Amino acid sequence: MNDFTPAPAMIDPFGRSISYLRVSVTDRCDFRCVYCMSENMSFLPKQDLLTLEELDRLCTVFVDKGVQKLRITGGEPLVRRDIMTLFRSLSRHLVSGRLEELTLTTNGSQLGKYASELADCGIRRINVSLDTLDAAKFRKITRWGDLDKVLAGIDAAQAAGIAVKLNAVALKGVNEDEVEDMIRWSHDRGIDITFIEVMPMGDIEPDRFDQYWPLSHLRARLLDQFTLDDIDYRTGGPARYVSVRETGGRIGFITPMTHNFCESCNRVRITCTGTLYMCLGQDDAADLRSPLRASANNDALSRAIDAAILRKPKGHDFVIERTTQRPAVARHMSVTGG
Ligand code: SAM
Ligand code: SF4
Repeated sequence: MNDFTPAPAMIDPFGRSISYLRVSVTDRCDFRCVYCMSENMSFLPKQDLLTLEELDRLCTVFVDKGVQKLRITGGEPLVRRDIMTLFRSLSRHLVSGRLEELTLTTNGSQLGKYASELADCGIRRINVSLDTLDAAKFRKITRWGDLDKVLAGIDAAQAAGIAVKLNAVALKGVNEDEVEDMIRWSHDRGIDITFIEVMPMGDIEPDRFDQYWPLSHLRARLLDQFTLDDIDYRTGGPARYVSVRETGGRIGFITPMTHNFCESCNRVRITCTGTLYMCLGQDDAADLRSPLRASANNDALSRAIDAAILRKPKGHDFVIERTTQRPAVARHMSVTGG
């Protein structure tokens, strides 16, 4: 234990305190999930990316400004070369008590390799994205993924003492018939499972309307087999939870489409090129790479962050309709991460 007093959080124009930073460390990935990426993605030239040292410096400035929770994401964060160097160096903020939590969102493909090192760096909880337990379907959704490798990764994480939460995107006609099995499978392993509504981000080949399955429908379907009790449990993210009487486990619902949760938004996101997005569903952004590189001291960078937080919008306005063919924002989810 230590007696470090956290810095006061940054406050946006709507009085929300910003204590949570998500950092996309790469836009690349070893999968090509059909709702996330097109098959032929073009990625950023590697020289445009912030170095791991620059990412560390940027995160540290946010910690200095009151960020208490840091989530590393991507693309697939664990495919970035030498990524453990970043986890290792950021873990000093856990040790000092300035950071409450260092975590990541991953597709799980590299967890077999990295789980114990992540645990060593103080990672206590991770989110693993998994939309099906059927190997053939998994390959179809991810285009390139291998289900067994992901399941082995989840085992490795749990064996290393890391709590796993599953994130599953609700996909109409794809995993609809499986949600009860996925819930039982997760809860048998002591894993919470959160369902997410598909969001209209970036151009992809399939029609979003064909993928979109509102969680109100998913929840209604669950009532045939489960008794759900609303609970106050929160993890700092946008999920609303229920507990399941039959399994004793928890289910989360992330409903950007059917229920806008922006009023309690406590987070901002930076991309691997140092662009700060104040909202996942809006295009306004601030370039932090220029002030970061312009000076070895952090004054200009800190001012750029303060100015950006003052522009944080009230919320997103995602819509998915057959007639709305354009995505709400042009960038793919893999740019800002989840
Ligand atoms: N590659 C890692 C993974 O899959 O967990 C981290 C990045 S991925 C962009 C983060 C999360 O965003 C995943 O859970 C993924 O399912 C979700 N996601 C990607 N595109 C989405 C979309 N258009 N709508 C909703 N969720 C999406
Ligand atoms: Fe990769 Fe994650 Fe996007 Fe799937 S959801 S393509 S694993 S970044």
